[in-house]
Amino acid sequence: MIPIRDAAAREYAAIAHELNDIETQGLLRRPETIEGPIGPRVRINGKEVLLLCTNDYLGLANHPAVKQAAREALERDGAGAGASRLVSGTLSIHKELERALANLKKTESALVFGSGYLANIGAVSTLCGPGDTIYSDRLNHASIIDACRLSRARIRIFPHRDTGQLRKTLKKSRAAGRKMIVTDGVFSMDGDIAPLPELADLADEFGTLLMVDDAHATGVLGKDWSGTSAYFSLNGVDVQMGTLSKALGSYGAFIAGPNQLIELLINRARSFIYTTALPPASAAAALAALKILKDEPDFPRRLWQNADTLKTGLRASGFSVGSSETFIIPLIVGDARTCVAMATALLKEGVFAQAIRPPSVPEGSSRLRIVPSALHETADMELAVQAFERAGKKCGII
Ligand code: PMP
Repeated sequence: MIPIRDAAAREYAAIAHELNDIETQGLLRRPETIEGPIGPRVRINGKEVLLLCTNDYLGLANHPAVKQAAREALERDGAGAGASRLVSGTLSIHKELERALANLKKTESALVFGSGYLANIGAVSTLCGPGDTIYSDRLNHASIIDACRLSRARIRIFPHRDTGQLRKTLKKSRAAGRKMIVTDGVFSMDGDIAPLPELADLADEFGTLLMVDDAHATGVLGKDWSGTSAYFSLNGVDVQMGTLSKALGSYGAFIAGPNQLIELLINRARSFIYTTALPPASAAAALAALKILKDEPDFPRRLWQNADTLKTGLRASGFSVGSSETFIIPLIVGDARTCVAMATALLKEGVFAQAIRPPSVPEGSSRLRIVPSALHETADMELAVQAFERAGKKCGII
């Protein structure tokens, strides 16, 4: 072991104490090591298990054409982009990808960021600052919460999907400055969908911008699988964020919108300006995934079918799956320790589904976040339901 400096020993004792506290509450996280590739099944500790918790919804992370595109970009452009996009890092593959993303989202432009976390930080803190007000759904993703805090704008949290309450808050507001409503499109831990038409009406009525984080909708929801706006046939979303890391099987993210928005982000978004550009292989992989989405719409269809089979089976077995309207299926357990026990029992039954606990979800709502992929077979879903039933009975959940 590397010795700790005497001067730091007291701090490390405090850190050990903090870790102990986290463990006592049943909240300690230790990532499971899986033997890849990511797919419908993976190996954990040498044993093959059904994988039901990735965001690789369409199974494109390991698709031959996606990997081939990444390999070619690696050979052509190298392993890294070399610098920030504004210094020397913009490659033609970035531009090509941005054109394809703007095309998918039916916007004038798009700008690729290093990750969804960075895209949210960049967009929110560029558009809103001190003196402005952000209206944010209570269950928005942590990267939006952090983006709001970093912006130093006034933050008004509204109850989850409660447009009535949001209306009252907007009506009462006398604040000057820019206003922006921000919401997940598909909520990452609950699988329900934002009431986008009502939010767009409120944005019109009260003169606010509307931003949607479509990390979990891009590639899997709406016409052309373009996302939540397309699902509602809506044009009223001003700022559309999406990730390349989920349905598109790669890494990175983007903001899509009018030319002026993209131009402003290039000039002001610190998480775009002061960080190295997306590696070319990741950009090429996402571009290949977009092509597959266009040519083979059966991928998302299979995802939705698997989700239906799984949800129906889980409900029939007596589990609560919350208000899920999509392929993100929260099996609500409540207590954090019981949730971990359930995940452990499930792994013994040959299914890997992660226990999600506070602070990722509100206190008392720990859950297994279950997600099938387009590559699972119907028989896998049936096997999974049986495994959930056995584990659920063992843990006293059903
Ligand atoms: N927004 C939402 C709704 C997410 O679920 C995530 C990732 N889990 C992100 C943003 C961040 O995306 P990334 O993983 O690309 O940083």
